[in-house]
Amino acid sequence: MASHTPSLAVVIPCYNEEEMLPKTLATMLSLREGMISRGKISADSKIYLVDDGSKDRTWEILAREATANSALVAVKLSRNKGHQNALYAGLCATTEDITVSIDADLQDDPKNIEAMVDEYLKGNDVVYGVRSARNTDTFFKRFTAEGYYHLMKKMGVDLVFNHADFRLLSRRALESLKEYDESNLFLRGIVREVGYPSSVVEYERQAREAGESKYPLKKMLSFAWKGITAFSTAPLRMITVLGLVSGFASFSLIAWVLAIRFFTDNATPGWASVLLPLLFIGSVQLLCLGVIGEYLSKIYEEVKRRPKFHISEIVKKD
Ligand code: UDP
Ligand code: MG
Repeated sequence: MASHTPSLAVVIPCYNEEEMLPKTLATMLSLREGMISRGKISADSKIYLVDDGSKDRTWEILAREATANSALVAVKLSRNKGHQNALYAGLCATTEDITVSIDADLQDDPKNIEAMVDEYLKGNDVVYGVRSARNTDTFFKRFTAEGYYHLMKKMGVDLVFNHADFRLLSRRALESLKEYDESNLFLRGIVREVGYPSSVVEYERQAREAGESKYPLKKMLSFAWKGITAFSTAPLRMITVLGLVSGFASFSLIAWVLAIRFFTDNATPGWASVLLPLLFIGSVQLLCLGVIGEYLSKIYEEVKRRPKFHISEIVKKD
């Protein structure tokens, strides 16, 4: 794609990562050196480290290292804003030709960055890191994570299966991504919306070497829910469907109640006059909620103000 050697920015969000940082910094710096010496990336390539309001010595380490080494850029957020926002802040700080985002714990083996750059050089704007194996994840994490990707697909959300936030973006893909003005960031979904030629690099996910996961179950669930509600109106549509189904069901029940009331002697006094409005109002309410939901989903699409398109190429004769 680029005729010259591209400059690379690696973006790493860090939240309470003091135990991991020495290893991460050493690994990333030597990887950068290696790629520069092999002529894959230019010598002004950088590593951006974003401190997401850590409570430990993360910022102290980052500031010290970045002062001493021009290959490192340390960015400090005003407070803890969460992984996605920290990552986005880092991406916005870059000026390089390509960016690769990766977690500070190196669970996504950084050796694959070179393969990603190769894919970029072949003409891909987006390269997705995909976990081919999750042997080091617990059964619970694997089961819930993979189930989630399936569920999202069912709800019409286009995600790359088993891809999280280890990915390469070209400058134009990143600039397009920045046009998305949403405050509920679910980057792996937005990147799919952005489009452009893309490819995949598969890798095996490693275990975290130091420190513990910064994604406890509560954060994980809230992130999963954010992904659904930021990308799918299927739950609202489900109310309409439920309203229709219960509407049909209650009309048959209403017919049954009327039949018992008028054609038999089995009806207890008061039974029909309680049951009829109950069935009727119940289904009318659900249907109305569904209709409101349909409009709500339109408002939701509108307020997002997502860009309608990104031009990938224009061919014309002078
Ligand atoms: N992280 C962050 N802010 C947060 C939580 C996490 O910047 O509020 C960073 C964290 O330092 C790491 C990445 O996000 O670089 C992924 O977190 P972690 O590895 O703990 O998640 P897991 O791999 O367990 O899903
Ligand atoms: Mg991790």
